[in-house]
Amino acid sequence: MAVTPLMQQYYEIKKENPGCILFFRMGDFFELFEDDAVIASKILGLTLTSRNNGASGATPLCGFPHHAAERYVPKMVAAGYRIAICEQVEDPKLAKGIVKRDIVEIISAGTAMNEENLNAKEANYLCAYVPATSDDGKGGNGDVAAFAIADVTTGYLATCRSSVQAFECEFSRRMPKEIVIPEGTTIPSAIMDLIKAENVLVTELPAILFAEDQAKDVLFTHFKVEALDGLGLDGRVFETSVTGALLQYLINQKKSELSHFTTLEILNLDDYMTLDPSTLRNLELVRPLNADDYSSTLCSVLDFTVTAMGGRTLKDWVSHPLIAVDRIREREEAVGELVQNPVALDELKESLTSILDMERLMGRVGSGRANARDLAGMGRSLSQASKVADVLEGLHAPLFEGLRETLNAAKGRGEDLLKYFNDDLPMTVREGGMIRPGASAELDAMNEDIKERREWIASLEGRERERLGIPSLKVGYNRVFGYYIEITKAQMAKATQPIPDEYIRKQTTVNGERYITPEMKECESVISNAEVNIHALEYKIFCELRERVNSWRAELQGIADAIARVDSLYSFARAARKYNYVCPEVFEGTGIEIRGGFHPVIVAVNPDLNFVPNDVTLSPDGTRLMLITGPNMAGKSTYLRQTGLIVLMAQIGCFVPAESARIGVVDRIFTRVGASDRLSRGLSTFMVEMIETANILRNATPHSLVLLDEIGRGTSTFDGLSIAWAIVETLHSEPARMALTLFATHYHELTGLVESLEHAGNFQVAVQEKGDKLTFLHKILEGACDSSYGIHVAEMAGLPPNVVRRARKILLRLEKQKIDPSDEAQNKKIKAQPQMDLFAPPDENTLLLKDEIRRLKPEEMTPMQALQRLMDLKENYGK
Ligand code: ADP
Repeated sequence: MAVTPLMQQYYEIKKENPGCILFFRMGDFFELFEDDAVIASKILGLTLTSRNNGASGATPLCGFPHHAAERYVPKMVAAGYRIAICEQVEDPKLAKGIVKRDIVEIISAGTAMNEENLNAKEANYLCAYVPATSDDGKGGNGDVAAFAIADVTTGYLATCRSSVQAFECEFSRRMPKEIVIPEGTTIPSAIMDLIKAENVLVTELPAILFAEDQAKDVLFTHFKVEALDGLGLDGRVFETSVTGALLQYLINQKKSELSHFTTLEILNLDDYMTLDPSTLRNLELVRPLNADDYSSTLCSVLDFTVTAMGGRTLKDWVSHPLIAVDRIREREEAVGELVQNPVALDELKESLTSILDMERLMGRVGSGRANARDLAGMGRSLSQASKVADVLEGLHAPLFEGLRETLNAAKGRGEDLLKYFNDDLPMTVREGGMIRPGASAELDAMNEDIKERREWIASLEGRERERLGIPSLKVGYNRVFGYYIEITKAQMAKATQPIPDEYIRKQTTVNGERYITPEMKECESVISNAEVNIHALEYKIFCELRERVNSWRAELQGIADAIARVDSLYSFARAARKYNYVCPEVFEGTGIEIRGGFHPVIVAVNPDLNFVPNDVTLSPDGTRLMLITGPNMAGKSTYLRQTGLIVLMAQIGCFVPAESARIGVVDRIFTRVGASDRLSRGLSTFMVEMIETANILRNATPHSLVLLDEIGRGTSTFDGLSIAWAIVETLHSEPARMALTLFATHYHELTGLVESLEHAGNFQVAVQEKGDKLTFLHKILEGACDSSYGIHVAEMAGLPPNVVRRARKILLRLEKQKIDPSDEAQNKKIKAQPQMDLFAPPDENTLLLKDEIRRLKPEEMTPMQALQRLMDLKENYGK
């Protein structure tokens, strides 16, 4: 049996769109067939049926009403699929044979534009990558990358050529949802790790799309330029190729022009502090280490933004700290002015509150999806934006002056748009109801012509109720009959008059009858004929307005960007006031001096915690490396992280959690702290630790801040100690690597080494020991901690007393074999030694007994406790 013509059409479209799940429109339904149906039925929880397609028998099938696509597309996209929407593109009534169908849009993770797919405060990035060579022709073996990044929802487009390592950093900061590559390209392994961890969709495109000439054509046509220098791409072959291909891909997917892409940014990653993926992750800047706990991120603490655009910009600022002192100071100054001016803060909040996501509205306008609600929303947002400009009028920071000038372009435009639109607006654009009376004389005249007839229809219900004596008679409307009079059986029974002769019965329903009258029909036909023209005119006016908004796109994008910036500065000021942050003194040079610093997230999340503030002093000529010892749980990691966060906050132009801070701009913050999610990717703790440490030792500079927590923990004691030791020496003494370093360790042996290094200092986290009890004071003091108190902490954690006692015995014995890192002769011996057998039985009972007696505090004991201790001692040592 031959395939039916419908299925033939289906197969053709399916073949033209490989790799897509095809949503095939049939009347009011979308239908999915074969494998698509099997996959979608599982993800969407739909019933799988089958249908005889006329060929080899039954075809799996599932379907749903077309409006459900709004919910189903995002689910499929989130599950990693690419959805092709196939619509009927001609009126079925006019079709000869099978209705013409075509793909109207392809939606994948990086190209989704509908709100259901998107998080308002998160950009939806799509990235394209090609391997490149550097200007001197080097590279080409996978160590130089060219990439482009786009957000189709807002029209953001940027490109860059950089080392693969810098690409990796940028990739993890932006975390695109999808990456596009030329067919057969090998993605660098570091990027592949991120792709796997974050389930990024990988899309391979024909290499021809990346060919320079083809890419140039796409860019020239789109941006209406005739030479590459108009886009800043002169001499940038790789950037041209990757950007052109990305744009072409988007145009192909969206099947529209995408006029909201108005500019191309050539990224210069040197403008920003480098944050590698592990630092981004470990400091929990934007994303939490534990997937669901967003409140543990710096962004969640600083985010008081009012608009979605502000929310996205804040995230962008947090993950792109600045290097240039003047730009940092510019932001600081603006934040400072707002901190001092709570009235302006309140006014800003009020005017920002009703500003919609203008960037995404522009996206809808530019891709031809905007309706009247979007344009009116843009109008209202523009009016509010000009109110923001008014608030800025009273502020004097230079940054605000620039932003105000940009925002002034909003003046008048909002009102200009709003005067055209009704207050209540429909979703559809071809059925009228959009344009306000008074906005168009022609439209008003057309409405005037049928005014009487509309009024006649409107008053018909009242008239007929009275005439027939049926107070609840209804005049209704549906698409099939138009207007009708409905009389229920119950009403009929009560009617004072018989049904008039001119009533023509049109439909019998369960409860009664529906009638029409010739007069009604005549009136209706005049109205509906006129309405065809009215709707057409309304649509025409709407299109003109949409085009007007589109022609303002450069200004509107500038306004949207300015609003986002004002909102982010507002947010910083709110955070500063709420948490008592101070303005740091940022300078070009090296050195960090923090007085009374605290951890922004811990303090925000636990407002009742009595957080102990701490100081940090690091300088190239004084102490460059702080070795911090202290028991577990004392607060070492917290101290390291808070220092990293304070420096980062200073460089994004934010106030900082401290009494005072002087921060010399750092080029990178390196971290090796805490657990890593790479563990789940099959690498051992130690391997991850060493990969991250290797990265630090290769790339740290004297302008970097390095935070190392418990290096060497993942291996045997001596291996770990030796590695930690060598790292301290390198960071302290190798000229290219002399970074400012905080090094927290449980290797007390390193404290001796530090004493011998000129620019390193020993610090400890203070604890108070009372009897067997330890109190953590969380205070960082100079000097080395003489005990690790590990056994105390274990005891506090509830390790059984016999295990704790045994551990103490073992410890005492081990302590007898003291290790002194400054003793060279001993060091040689240590390195040659095999690992210690920690579990060999000790034989110095007397020593242990002495130690226990030493730690007894008879003055704090009751007689009963003393007696009990004595019995314990006898039990343990008397045999
Ligand atoms: P370590 O790294 O030394 O094992 P952490 O930094 O993980 O210790 O801190 C242990 C606990 O002590 C955490 O719950 C933390 O909230 C708390 N803490 C750390 N520093 C301080 C501080 N300065 N003031 C109050 N509590 C603190």
